[in-house]
Amino acid sequence: MIPFYKLERYEGNESLFELVTMSIVSSLAGEPLHIHAEGLRGTGKTTIMRAAKDILPKITRIKGCIYNCDPAAPHCPHHKNLTREEILQLGTEEIQMPFLEISHSAKVGTVAGSVDLARLTDVINPEARLLPGLIPQAHRGIIFIDEINRLADTSPEITDILLDVMGNKPGHIQIEEAGLPVVDVKVSVSVWAASNPDEDPGPLEEIRRQLSDRFDMVCFMGRPNSVDILSQMLKENSHQWKTKQYNKETIDDSKNNTMRKDIVLWASKYQKADMPDFLRNYIARLYIKNNLESIRAIEAMQSGAILHSIIKGRDKVLINDVTHMIPLVLKHRVDNDTMVRMINDVDSKGVKDGILSFKNRKKKDNEAEAEYFPHNAMPLKDIRRSDLVNTEKSLTPNEV
Ligand SMILES: [Zn+2]
Repeated sequence: MIPFYKLERYEGNESLFELVTMSIVSSLAGEPLHIHAEGLRGTGKTTIMRAAKDILPKITRIKGCIYNCDPAAPHCPHHKNLTREEILQLGTEEIQMPFLEISHSAKVGTVAGSVDLARLTDVINPEARLLPGLIPQAHRGIIFIDEINRLADTSPEITDILLDVMGNKPGHIQIEEAGLPVVDVKVSVSVWAASNPDEDPGPLEEIRRQLSDRFDMVCFMGRPNSVDILSQMLKENSHQWKTKQYNKETIDDSKNNTMRKDIVLWASKYQKADMPDFLRNYIARLYIKNNLESIRAIEAMQSGAILHSIIKGRDKVLINDVTHMIPLVLKHRVDNDTMVRMINDVDSKGVKDGILSFKNRKKKDNEAEAEYFPHNAMPLKDIRRSDLVNTEKSLTPNEV
């Protein structure tokens, strides 16, 4: 596998690199951020998501706890009632932030949990105990689901589990097994998903709208359109080149290390960061003015803008951090016309006379305005509709 730092970045996939980084930062800070990459086969969405394992930071857990209990806030059935002294005696250990994958044919027992057969069949001391599944074991980390649209179509039980896990931050999961008491555990897991909306059974928002809305952001992966980038991708995909380049000795882990260090730093910044009130008002006005239905959408706009400003190395949130989030947060939640109208609205009215209407405010706010809205604050202005909203026609222009 190509290491994360070596993956080719171009305009069409830059947003996914950003979202993946933002989600890791947010997870480390204790707040899950659910992201979904949509796009045609071959655009590299799953490659980027899986390669992000390289840059996952370490977390500290109670030694040997399969539920990844935070020593400062244990939550699992074995540790939640222990005293501070008892936990100290157990000790702690550092592990890599978990990254586990659910396949679209997974079973409920694998995902949520099942009876621990090894314990049950132990000759000396047989005992019926629950073995947590992939989701509780990914607590404080990431769960990746490729082809989420197929999973949602064929497995309503697992979809319901995901709805619970992603319903609140943190979410929860129930582990049930006949004859054993039901265990309900807290889970703080960022769900990453990928799908191709042009393949069966179609886009997730049409199969299970509720699940689609649980994703904070959706990134539509564009196709690379430069000859240089395409030939570089071809080179990377050539098997010979891969095996020659990426055996263990040639991977420069110092580059991954630098990214891991940045992530740890950004997570500590995120825990303290906030957004100025006038930007929060701006988001609230977008919600009302455009009749948005989902409160999750504007919550995602807020946390996304803060995270974006942090990974770009700024110490305050700008309006372009907010407008940058509009297509990512709304792609799966509003129809294309509404989104284009919103983007044009932000564009054409300009910031001064637009939704913000600072005209009648006091001088203090005008100072904030000058500081927060530099001339380059409108990146969406130069983007054509076809770059933001991909339709079947724009993706395959030659087919009639
Ligand atoms: Zn525990």
